[in-house]
Amino acid sequence: MLTILLIPKNGHNSIMKKILLGCIADDFTGATDLANNLVRSGMRVVQTVGVPDGPLDAEVDAVVVSLKSRTIDPQEAAAQSLTALKWLQDQGASQIYFKYCSTFDSTAQGNIGPVTDALMAALGTDFTIATPAFPDAGRTVFKGYLFVGDGLLNESGMQDHPLTPMTDPNLVRVLQAQTKHKVGLLDYKVIAQGRDAIQARITALREEGVGIAIVDAVSNADLMVLGSVFKDLPLVTAGSGVAIGLPANFGIAPNPHSAELPKPNGLKAIVSGSCSRATNLQVADFIARGLPAYALDPLSLMNGEQAIDDVLSWAKPKLANVPVLIYSTAAPDALKRIQDQLGVQQAGEMVEQAMARIAKGLIALGVGQLVVAGGETSGAVVQALGMHQLQIGAQIDPGVPWCAANGIHITLKSGNFGTPDFFTKAFDRIA
Ligand code: ADP
Repeated sequence: MLTILLIPKNGHNSIMKKILLGCIADDFTGATDLANNLVRSGMRVVQTVGVPDGPLDAEVDAVVVSLKSRTIDPQEAAAQSLTALKWLQDQGASQIYFKYCSTFDSTAQGNIGPVTDALMAALGTDFTIATPAFPDAGRTVFKGYLFVGDGLLNESGMQDHPLTPMTDPNLVRVLQAQTKHKVGLLDYKVIAQGRDAIQARITALREEGVGIAIVDAVSNADLMVLGSVFKDLPLVTAGSGVAIGLPANFGIAPNPHSAELPKPNGLKAIVSGSCSRATNLQVADFIARGLPAYALDPLSLMNGEQAIDDVLSWAKPKLANVPVLIYSTAAPDALKRIQDQLGVQQAGEMVEQAMARIAKGLIALGVGQLVVAGGETSGAVVQALGMHQLQIGAQIDPGVPWCAANGIHITLKSGNFGTPDFFTKAFDRIA
C-alpha cells in the first residue's frame, strides 16, 4: 500500500486538515463580521486578504476570503470570486458561502446577482438561497422586504448611499434585475412552520424553475432552523446572519477554543482614522480617562516624514506604561474644513497612508496589540503591515473580534461599531 504524507508549508509532519466551509466576502470588514459569527458558533476561522497563493498557515474549519468586489465591474467581480472559489475548493471546502452586506448593497448591475450566477455555474448547481437577514444587527426580511431596524431599507439612509443607493426594499425585485436565474420567495408563512415545510417549499420552488430563493427570517431561531435546511446546498449566499446556523451541520457547537489566539504580548496602541460618530465618542472617552492621545493634523502631513517622526517620538516614552492613541478623528465641521482645503479624496488617502506608516512605526517600537479604527484605514494598515491571513479570535463588540497575524494582535473596527469605551475595553478583553 502506498501512503502519501502531505507535508504542509509549516514543515510539520501532519496531514493538513481540510477546511469545511469556504467563504467569499465582497469587502474586508464584511468578511470580519462573517468570520466573527462563525467563531461565535464554534468554528476556527482564518480571514485572508485577497486570494492566497498557497495553502494556509493554520488548521481551521472555515476560511473567509475577503475581496473588494462590491462595486467593481460585475465581470471582474465574478472572475475574482471564481478564483477564490477554486482556491477554497483546493483547500477541501465542501460548502461555499458568498457573503454580501446585510443591507444588500448592490448597483442595478450587481454584483450580488452576477457573482451568484458565476458561482452557481462553477458549482454545477441550479438552486441557491439569498438572504441578508441578521436580526442581531436589526436586519430582518419579511415577505421579501428588507427591514433595517424598524423601517424599510429604502428609508434607512441607504437610499442616499454614494455607491450603492438602495431605493427598493423588495429583494425579489432587486435581485431579479441582476440575475439570469428566476428569483422566488421562501415566505415567512412557511418558515414559521419549521423544517419539513421549508424543505417541501424549496422542492416546489425548484419545480417552478426558481434558481434563487429570497428567504424571510426575523429571528436567530429562524436562522438556526434555516441553517439545518441549507446543509446540502453547495452554495449559500447571505449576509453574515445565516452563518450562525451552519456550523452545527458539521457537528460543531459553540466552544471557547474556537476563539483562542496565541497569548498577546507587546505594547498597546490605537490608531484612529475614522471620523464616524461612534469613533468620535471613543476618542473622547479615551481622552477623558487621562490617557495619552495625539491629534494628528492632516495639514502637517504636507511636511512629509517629519509629521510621522514627531508622532513616533511622542509615543515612544509613553508606550511603556499605558496604551497610546493617535487619531485624525475629527468632528464633521473640522473634517469639512480639511476636505475643502485638500480635496476629499486626497485628504482621505493622505491620512490613511499616514496612519499605515504610523502603525508600522509603532510595531517597530514594540507594539504587539493594535486597535485600528476605520474601515478604509484598516485596509491601509493591514496592507502596510503585510498581513495576508488573520486568525479570528474573541469578539470585543458585535462585529469586531481580536485577530492575530504576523505575531501581532490587531482589531479592525469599522466606523460605527463599538461602545464609547471600546479603546480601553479592547485591551481588557484580550487580557
Ligand atoms: P469609517 O469606517 O469611519 O468610515 P474609514 O477609515 O473607512 O472610517 O474612512 C475615513 C476616511 O476619512 C479615511 O479615508 C481617512 O483617511 C479620512 N480621514 C480621517 N481623518 C481625517 C481628517 N481629519 N481629515 C480628512 N480626512 C480624514
